[in-house]
Amino acid sequence: MQVVKPGKLLINNEWCEAESGKRFSVTNPATEQKLTDVAEGDAADVNRAVKAARRAFESGPWKTMSARERGRIINRIAILLDKHKEEFAELETLNNGKPISETRNADLPLSIETFEYYAGLADKIHGDTIPVSGNFFNYTLREPAGVVGQIIPWNFPLLMAAWKLGPALATGCTVVLKPAEQTPLTALKLGEIAIEAGLPAGVLNIIPGYGPTAGAAIATHPDVDKVAFTGSTEVGKIVMQLAGANLKRVSLELGGKAPNIVFADSDIEAAVNGAMRGIFFNQGEVCCAGSRLFLEEKIHDEFLSKLKTRVEKMIVGNPLDPKTQMGAQVSEEQFKKILGYIDQGKKEGATVLTGGAPAQPKGYFVKPTILEGVNNNMTVAREEIFGPVVCAIAFKNHDDLCRQANDTVYGLSAGIWTRDIGKAHRLAKEIKAGTIWINCYNCFDAASPFGGFKQSGFGRELGKYALELYTQVKSVWVSLD
Ligand code: ADP
Repeated sequence: MQVVKPGKLLINNEWCEAESGKRFSVTNPATEQKLTDVAEGDAADVNRAVKAARRAFESGPWKTMSARERGRIINRIAILLDKHKEEFAELETLNNGKPISETRNADLPLSIETFEYYAGLADKIHGDTIPVSGNFFNYTLREPAGVVGQIIPWNFPLLMAAWKLGPALATGCTVVLKPAEQTPLTALKLGEIAIEAGLPAGVLNIIPGYGPTAGAAIATHPDVDKVAFTGSTEVGKIVMQLAGANLKRVSLELGGKAPNIVFADSDIEAAVNGAMRGIFFNQGEVCCAGSRLFLEEKIHDEFLSKLKTRVEKMIVGNPLDPKTQMGAQVSEEQFKKILGYIDQGKKEGATVLTGGAPAQPKGYFVKPTILEGVNNNMTVAREEIFGPVVCAIAFKNHDDLCRQANDTVYGLSAGIWTRDIGKAHRLAKEIKAGTIWINCYNCFDAASPFGGFKQSGFGRELGKYALELYTQVKSVWVSLD
């Protein structure tokens, strides 16, 4: 196994300590042991990083190089990530607690393909010519947003960095990235390969640190043009307020409470698999987790009995074991929060069909849990648990289902299981969410947009849609007289 190195800040392609000299510990959530420590950036370091990013944006090779050359550098990041994928997968598993089978088969391939995708898009970003009235030639330029602050969460540390960096770099922005304090290690390693790939100094600066210090400094900094945030709805609201001080552009990818809907006419075995994938992938620490499992009354009991049998066979434990299907929650805080929600569910009348307790004496493992008899007004159906807890809710008919599915402040995603293709498409239109999965769940591709309705945020990541987040349009008029 690799030696986990202590981490530093990355500013202007140099690794440095925080000005305060502070460092913070990073823990392996599966063992509760310290993994290493990392320099703790705060406002002073963010300031240095923003200065470096501004210099790199306004002058120097990044600004003058062709979009195609930018694309080549991004592609080299993808190639190097691929070359080192096993080290990245192991490091992510050690730091986050997620199973190695997932870091190998989801986090790494998706991160690599995100850089590949944006490498290919870099030289395809352009404006239009517009047929205006009068004797004018009018055209638009699509220019980079400028210095971009990116604040990312701990659930997919490398993948969220890739989703943010791919489009920002492709458009020619420069970046100050803050990984989550729980999981800074793979983002820092990504910084190493970005330098090796030839990213010029100042284009990517990485400041590990805490939210209210380093994160808030990014959101308030007057010389940051745009902030992109992924995290909780609660913190998203704070970031938006802070960013309002200088009217920064903001994009937010926030929480969810997705309905995963199973009709009686679905392929039940496939839907059971989909329910499992929907809630237990990444220990349920997924903003689009299918946490409200809506079951048509006719199949409710049969479905839950099948699901229970499957859940009780899940292998929960050592995240480094390739056979493990569910690892540890990221931190003690999350572990306690999840168990607290299960208690709250019981108090409000739900029943624990299976799970509902820690899975191991050591480490932050929670048993995969099914709560039965939930109604959509209970706390467990309204608030994001961010853990391996699925709330089963029975529904009678289409109208009853639709009303309940949309009765949430969130709108990130939804799953629909039915063999009736017309019904599936009608419902896909009716559900207020940014992603709808029909007879599948948790499918991702770098080319397909992802983002929220309602309080799940705004702005779309991935695909060509993400270019909107990092560019601004300039209209140029030329008199032809
Ligand atoms: P989670 O609930 O998933 O831990 P958070 O929304 O708390 O998500 O955190 C997501 C990211 O936001 C992390 O990088 C965290 O450090 C950062 N963050 C937390 N609080 C603030 C804040 N007040 N200002 C800016 N960033 C913050």
